[in-house]
Amino acid sequence: MSPKQSPLPLVELVARSKKIGADQSLVVYGGGNTSSKGEILDHLGRTHQVMWVKGSGSDMMYGGERDYPALYLDDLRQLISFDDLDDETMVDYVTRALVDPTSRRPSIETLLHAFLPAKHIDHVHADAICALTNHPGGAKAVADALGKGFEYVDWMLPGFTLSKIVSKLKDSEGIVLAHHGLVVWDESSDKCLEKTHLAVAKADKFLDSLNVKPVAAFDHGDMPQSELNELLLQLRKKLGKKQILRTDHRLAQIASRKDCQRIVAASASSADHMLRIRPKSALIDISLPAESIERYQNEYSQYFERNKANIQPGYSSHGNDPKVLLVPKVGAITTGNSSQECLMLADIAFHTHSVAARVIDSFGEADTIPESEIFKFDYWPMELFKLASKPAPAKFAGSIYVVTGAGSGIGRGIALELGRLGASVTLADLDEKGLEEVQSVFKANKFLEPLLITGDQSKEEVVSKTLNETISQFGGLDGVVINAGIGVSDNLEDLTLEKFRTGLEINLTSAFLMTKGAMQILRKQGLGGSIVYIASKNAFSPGAGFGGYSVTKAGMLQLMRIAALEGGSVGIRANAINPDAVFDNSKLWEGGIRAQRAAAHGVKPEELEDFYASRNILKVRVQTVDVAHSVAFLLSDESSRTTGAVIAVDGGVSAAFPR
Ligand SMILES: [Zn+2]
Repeated sequence: MSPKQSPLPLVELVARSKKIGADQSLVVYGGGNTSSKGEILDHLGRTHQVMWVKGSGSDMMYGGERDYPALYLDDLRQLISFDDLDDETMVDYVTRALVDPTSRRPSIETLLHAFLPAKHIDHVHADAICALTNHPGGAKAVADALGKGFEYVDWMLPGFTLSKIVSKLKDSEGIVLAHHGLVVWDESSDKCLEKTHLAVAKADKFLDSLNVKPVAAFDHGDMPQSELNELLLQLRKKLGKKQILRTDHRLAQIASRKDCQRIVAASASSADHMLRIRPKSALIDISLPAESIERYQNEYSQYFERNKANIQPGYSSHGNDPKVLLVPKVGAITTGNSSQECLMLADIAFHTHSVAARVIDSFGEADTIPESEIFKFDYWPMELFKLASKPAPAKFAGSIYVVTGAGSGIGRGIALELGRLGASVTLADLDEKGLEEVQSVFKANKFLEPLLITGDQSKEEVVSKTLNETISQFGGLDGVVINAGIGVSDNLEDLTLEKFRTGLEINLTSAFLMTKGAMQILRKQGLGGSIVYIASKNAFSPGAGFGGYSVTKAGMLQLMRIAALEGGSVGIRANAINPDAVFDNSKLWEGGIRAQRAAAHGVKPEELEDFYASRNILKVRVQTVDVAHSVAFLLSDESSRTTGAVIAVDGGVSAAFPR
């Protein structure tokens, strides 16, 4: 074995873990851990016995070799001679055993793996295994389901003591940790995985054989989408912050069960899950959503007060808000900074609550770990470390915006800037291809997946669709950027009525419709909001031969001012941006407009960009990103004291100074 070559046990470990990680009934998002033992050669050619174990918080599904740090096995095993080690000291000592001190922090359950002699070890938090133990007869159920060869260990927070207890059970076939998971091992990696699958299958079969009772009665029928949208706005209002509310229907049946409150109470049993979705979900009474949230907040606050004496120094309450809301006839609504995060929470909630329902259906009653233990886990510094290592949220994390005319030009530039800042956005345009191209740029840059709406924003039904689907998808609205527009050239004497009306419809009527719809939603949602109008330098300084356009943009500014007046009392701000001569990716200059404007200024069409740049005070070309920066400012709370204003993004055109 050369030092450069990956050791076989590590290769096998990564491959086996990927298979485990891909199955959410075994582990969810960073839960569980696996290890292998073997030898490495150091730089002096010496052989060392090591163990590779999953890094804390890394996800088995995606983990590569670097997510499984190597530790000197002997250094770990020496620790067994201690009578007791507190978590911090244990982590310190375990970290000292790292072969590469700069590698990622090994799992908090490292010693459990090190103290067992087997070469390959799997530890999963399987649903079926948790279901076996989350009731008063857990030990018997484990024996009945898996056979006498399996050992049962009562609930205990992972750490040094649990690792020592487990080490004494090395001669068993495997171990079930109550309310926690399964540990199996083998000298062969493949056999180890087989044992995991076999034990889980046995648990499943046993549970199925018990599940003789009819599923408890539940309310049938789905909530209509319009009603659900209203509910989402009320919930977002009550929770009072910019965040995504994602609806997931997988738990519709469980959320609609008459005994759902029992299921929720029994759900604080799969310990690893509660770290992300909190010990309890909020059960929402559809007729009293705000009161349901309040009840949850009060209960959490009381739970915190009851237990806060046990909190470690330097830690404070996570806040009283739920992460998962169970809604009859709907399922789960989860809250987070992005739809992705919400999906993760929904996946975890699905497993947690399904296990609880299965326990109740199989055994008639459930048993959870005591509240003091729940609290210890909820505020366990060792696990909070996983969450603390997440990067800081982006500027627009949890914010929801609509951008019209997003398929090209300024709208495209705005969309990309909002995407870059972590916003969840709906991109609307007539041009489907343009939208798809912007979507592909989002994807390439790993921005959050946008919602695309194709259609003519001067049609009322398209505007309604744009706004309603935004709420359905993201759970609310924080602002709109009204940007869709076309150029309308010709002297007034030559301008046809049809062309004039088309300009009005697309540039101004659409702005009115979006303003109206957005203000209604923002008012209901009660969190304020920001409407940004992309007007034009022409609104203040019109050009001859461009009246059909300039009129609409002047109208847009007046619309903005009225929106500012009417929305101010509920925190809705309205502001405009006047760009000038923005060319990149813009379709505004197509259809003869470039030639026409060039002729009007007495330059060649290809000289138009330079002409405009020479005309402004700063002698600069204005680009979509320049406009986008001002839009981001106006959408954000940084401009919270600004409404009814116009910002020029035109390089400085004195004739168009806002006044
Ligand atoms: Zn575990």
